[in-house]
Amino acid sequence: MAEERRRKVREIQAVVADVREETHDAASLLLDIGDEERDYKAGQFITIDPHQFGFLEQVIAYLEEVKGTREKPRAYSMGSAPHEPHILITVKEERFWPGESKYPPVLSPPLSRHCPPGTTLTISGFTGPYAIPQDAGQKADTVLHLCAGSGIVPNFGLIKDSIHRGDDLHHVLLYSSKTRSDIFYYDQFAALAAGHSEQLTVLHSLTREDPHQIEPASRKGRLDAELIKSYVKDLDRTLVYCCGPGVLPWERKEARERGEEPAPKFVETMIQILHELGFDKRQIKQESWG
Ligand SMILES: Cc1cc2nc3c(=O)[nH]c(=O)nc-3n(C[C@H](O)[C@H](O)[C@H](O)COP(=O)(O)OP(=O)(O)OC[C@H]3O[C@@H](n4cnc5c(N)ncnc54)[C@H](O)[C@@H]3O)c2cc1C
Repeated sequence: MAEERRRKVREIQAVVADVREETHDAASLLLDIGDEERDYKAGQFITIDPHQFGFLEQVIAYLEEVKGTREKPRAYSMGSAPHEPHILITVKEERFWPGESKYPPVLSPPLSRHCPPGTTLTISGFTGPYAIPQDAGQKADTVLHLCAGSGIVPNFGLIKDSIHRGDDLHHVLLYSSKTRSDIFYYDQFAALAAGHSEQLTVLHSLTREDPHQIEPASRKGRLDAELIKSYVKDLDRTLVYCCGPGVLPWERKEARERGEEPAPKFVETMIQILHELGFDKRQIKQESWG
């Protein structure tokens, strides 16, 4: 019961301890939460309410008027594992594209560009079902990670946590990025794969560039059924964690209003492939945004 109470979502005061430019359009923020317990599971997320930033007041007031609804807190997966001293989030900047975007993005531009060390943030956490159960080793030997773009963030936490705990799971990461410069945590994954080859296999798949000197392994193209199949040794003993772009609620709503089904994005495509390969939905966890 006490455990239950402690695990409730709560507001936490965080200070940005460090900022790393992860890619040309994404920044990693290392958050110091002081004496607060880091009682989260790897793979979970925090939320950040944009109303806390005074400089967003006018744009939020305008957007709430035109959207007719209150701007919600934005979710950010944690790329950290609970044994690490800081909470890591990596925020990719959304852009307003004239003629394409309906509204300008609210929170990702200031978080990814204007949050220097020392910035204080109120975060809420910790929550989310995207976590590996403690007893996963009873059902599986392998965890297959299918990730694209910023969808790598929670899986980075999952992999580090499992390696740290020394459980018997082998992780296979198939990570799709547009180009080398879009890969998150490149050096960390290369070091993890080199130092823990028994526990981790990493393949980078680039969709818009021929891979050149990418460690530990790479190929050109999207993740597809043939590739995924080649990495599945024992389907019944494999769990899948899939994270990346997926159809957003308003995209689904707008498509249905036009009498259409929305075009599948990365996560919908992966889930379809997994079902065709024979995976049961109980073997698959998915998370998506953007
Ligand atoms: C569980 C979870 C984990 C996440 N983890 C991460 C992460 O690790 N890193 C990361 O970068 N992001 C993550 N996200 C996405 C993040 O929560 C934000 O959605 C993202 O940062 C964009 O927020 P924003 O305020 O900048 O843009 P928004 O203001 O949300 O706008 C984004 C786009 O949506 C459009 N839009 C917004 N509202 C509407 C509407 N009502 N109708 C039509 N179009 C609309 C806008 O025009 C714009 O193009 C996660 C999301 C979830 C659900």
